[in-house]
This record gives sequence, C-alpha cells and structure tokens, in this order.
Amino acid sequence: MSDGPTYGFDTLQIHAGARPDPATGARQTPIYQSTAYVFRDADHAAALFNLQEVGYIYSRLTNPTVAVLQERLATLEGGVGAVCCSSGHAAQIMALFPLMGPGKNVVASTRLYGGTVTQFSQTIKRFGWSAKFVDFDDLDALRDAIDDDTRAVFCESVANPGGYVTDVRAVADVADAAGLPLIVDNTSATPYLCQPISQGATLVVHSTTKYLTGNGTVTGGCIVDSGKFDWSASDKFPSLSAPEPAYHGLKFHETFGNLAFTFHGIAIGLRDLGMTMNPQAAHYTLMGIETLSLRMQRHVENAVKVATWLEDDPRVDYVTYAGLPSSPYADRAKRCYPKGTGGLFTVALKGGYDACVKFVDSLEIFSHVANLGDTRSLVIHSASTTHRQLTPEQQQAAGAGPNVVRISIGIEDADDLIRDLDQALAKACS
Ligand SMILES: *Cc1c(COP(=O)(O)O)cnc(C)c1O
Repeated sequence: MSDGPTYGFDTLQIHAGARPDPATGARQTPIYQSTAYVFRDADHAAALFNLQEVGYIYSRLTNPTVAVLQERLATLEGGVGAVCCSSGHAAQIMALFPLMGPGKNVVASTRLYGGTVTQFSQTIKRFGWSAKFVDFDDLDALRDAIDDDTRAVFCESVANPGGYVTDVRAVADVADAAGLPLIVDNTSATPYLCQPISQGATLVVHSTTKYLTGNGTVTGGCIVDSGKFDWSASDKFPSLSAPEPAYHGLKFHETFGNLAFTFHGIAIGLRDLGMTMNPQAAHYTLMGIETLSLRMQRHVENAVKVATWLEDDPRVDYVTYAGLPSSPYADRAKRCYPKGTGGLFTVALKGGYDACVKFVDSLEIFSHVANLGDTRSLVIHSASTTHRQLTPEQQQAAGAGPNVVRISIGIEDADDLIRDLDQALAKACS
C-alpha cells in the first residue's frame, strides 16, 4: 500500500513501511538475516559508498527488516525518517551525537527514567558533554537554564516512573525561541497516546523495548526525525551544516535537506558508533506494533481502574496517575493526552520502605522486574533498583522516593490485578 495521511492509525500500525516481499510475495515482512548485500557492479558499490544512491551495503548501517520498522515508526510519529538502534539508551546517545560536542550541554527535565538521569549526569561527561536538570513545569527556569553552549532540550512526554505528563507544546515553544531542537522520549506514551512532532518536537526517541514491542522479548531503540529543524540557521550544528571530512566535504543539510539528521544517523552514527538494531529484534517489534492501539487502550482502561482502587485504599498514601481526576495534572492530561496517560504510575505506601519491599515480594500476578510496557503487569521498587544510583534529592525529584513502588499495568483482567494488589497489601501492611 502507499502510505499517506488518508489512513488511520490502526491501519498504519499494520501496513506502514511493509509491502509483499518482491522476491517471494511473502505477506509478512521477512527477517533478512544477512550481513551484506551483493553490489550490481563496481559503479553501484561506489555510488552507495558516496551516498549518491540509497541501498543496502552492510547490516551495521541498513537492513531491509529494520528499514520496514524505521518507516513504520516514522509514519506513526509523523516524522520524515527514523533510525533504529540497539536500545533506548543507544537512541539517546545517537540523538545527541550530531548535536553535541565537548563543552556543550543539554537542558533536561528532572522527571526522567532513572537510567537516563545516570546517563546524562555521569556517563556523557566522558564525551565532554553535560546536562542541566530543571523542572519543566517552570518555563522561566527552563529559559534561564539555556545558555550559549546548550545544543538540545530533552524531556519525556509521559515521564517514567511517576506518569507525570509534559506539556510538549509549551516546552517546544521555549526551545524554538532559543533556536534549539527539542528531543522528546515518547517511550511511555507511544505514538498512539502522543505525537510529540505534531506539538513541535524536533526529534522523538523511543525505547522500543517497552510498549512498541509490548511483550518483553527484545531491546531496541529508535530516533524519529521531524525533518522540520533548520540545522543551517546558526553555526551551532556543524555536524549537519558544515562540510563532513569523512564524505569528501559533503554537507548533510545542504545535500539531504529535511532528511539530513536521518542520513547522518545512518552514515555517521551507525557506521561509527555501531549501535545497530538486529533484524530479529526488528521483527519482534514489528509484530508488537501491529496491535499497539488495542493494547494501549486496554493499558489505559486497566490503569484507570487500578489507580482509582488504590487511591481509595487506606494502606496507600498517594497514587501519581495523571489519569485520575484528583491529579494536579488532570487538566493538562485531558488537554494534551485526550486518549489517556498510559499504564504507568507510582503508588506510595504508608508503611514506607519496608512495606514496599514486602509488597513487591508478595505479589503473584505482578512480576518484580526492571521493565515496563509489557502485556504482563510489572512492579519495581525504584529506590532499591533503577533509581539506586541517584542521590536522595534526585530520587525525590524523579518521583522515586523510598516509599514508592512503580507499577506498569498490563492487559490482564483488571479485577484479577486488583485482587492481587489487595492480598499483597494485606501482607505488606500487617
Ligand atoms: C527503558 C527506557 C529507556 C531506556 O531504554 P532501553 O531500551 O532499556 O535502553 C529510556 N527511556 C525510557 C522512558 C525508558 O522507559
């Protein structure tokens, strides 16, 4: 099929990027388990290596199965192109890589996945990059944090672990006024609940490990390019606007126009960083995406039921689900996330750290794992696991204090989930 704006989300999540295999007619996208691709002749090979012709060379750069996933994600997010890579964390490095340089910084929300806080506050320093964390509800603080060395603004749409919701449009306006790209991690919302590009984001990153694959089988990541940022408007982004010595002085923005970031991600990012997605992973993720909207509807429906039940329980201190009418973000959630705020939230227990540990050990349907966005319901005690490397202040800012359990609601029967939570709370709070 030809993809176009005339098709709805449910159609595109199944068909975008895929076509019957030209060699065999296979209807499902084959797993092209091949490292290399035969050149037609020496001229063809030279044209491919010069980026004068687009095609397959070697699977560190491009692979036909991965290419279908890239086109599907670009379509669902409303972008012009996408680059898949080996994990969500790889996608974040790949997104920042063409923008940053020694001495440059990214201004990031305090409300981020714990692993991202660690990546940004510790590991990127080894590249000479740094991150400044601010509360993105305070747009003046965000404006003040941006300086001459800032090269990107970064946030999550629905933030892990608290289920906090960002007003992407408001943040995008600030980034735009400063002439900076906004990168939105859309992992927890998925393009079904939020399309950051339509609200002004420049790049969208995903851990495809989570809801997009949806069944806890493979790790993967993706960067979707809106194609809307003018990389040549200032001299801040020389990787995209200035001559590239590794390609005989080619300028990515001048040569590839709105696909500059995507081409750079493949021709430089994957070529030299090698954070490549393998075709098996792309296959599992393509399978998952076919049912994304159905699963997200059920995740939201179940999360509303379970969060409502937990909020009324006397053993519970508070629940952070933005989909609850009592949430301080209820108005923003309705305005910016009309289909719901996903299946992720935290619950704080009155019994504190000890009750939380007993609680996660007593659950039967819920699994205690470091993952989210599975068909299965999952829990984790963030303070003793994913957010363990953070300072107590960072834990609080990220919504992952010692009395807090993160819950990723699956697509099981909501009544069974509630019964399981009830019996575990009884054991934890006795
Ligand atoms: C899991 C996750 C990541 C990291 O993704 P990996 O695939 O585990 O590398 C980044 N951001 C968010 C919001 C996540 O949930």
